[in-house]
Amino acid sequence: MNNNFEKLIEYFLKFPGIGPRQAKRFALFLAGEDKKFVADLGQLISKIKESVRQCPSCYRFYGSVSGGSSQCGICSNLNRDNSILLVVEKDADLQNIEKSEVYNGRYFVLGGTIPLANGSAKGGTGGLRFRELFEKVKVLLQSSTREAKHLEVILALSATIEGENTSRYAEKILEPLLSKGGQEIKITRLGRGLSTGTELEYSDSATIANSLRSRC
Ligand SMILES: [Zn+2]
Repeated sequence: MNNNFEKLIEYFLKFPGIGPRQAKRFALFLAGEDKKFVADLGQLISKIKESVRQCPSCYRFYGSVSGGSSQCGICSNLNRDNSILLVVEKDADLQNIEKSEVYNGRYFVLGGTIPLANGSAKGGTGGLRFRELFEKVKVLLQSSTREAKHLEVILALSATIEGENTSRYAEKILEPLLSKGGQEIKITRLGRGLSTGTELEYSDSATIANSLRSRC
């Protein structure tokens, strides 16, 4: 195998959930496709940064319309409930919850969970958006004073040791806001029936609705 082929495999290995065997299968698949297919795919990949924008408010990626609002459709929608914030690990979780149409609050994409190995290392938060989460909750608190007396932050992270750690860390980060100015912030977790991030990504509407109802 030549160098480029190996390099391509290395890139596929960086994709979420892709192991060495799948990475190699992808590379072999591409090698077997015709030139146009590969060229079209290459084009799409090289343009992805221009066609997709990251929302500065919830941090999800969305297809950008030129000249549109700088925030995504969910964040700029005035009809959504500012008194609930659902914190998810990744875009796919958010997309599936949206599809289920059982939630009408705000979102925040944290970017994953803190890897266990990093737990005690420098910084230790795996580049996740904790600072941004703090800011987001602060902004929501300010805007919700007019509409509601309370703000609920639902931590919808994986029911794994990593997810548990991450949720606890998030609670610690938000702690200084809990006692601010007479407003009530409630931090909750999703209820049973739906526990891991992967489940969130693939759950049906009924399960999502159930876990939201039974949050605690
Ligand atoms: Zn957004």
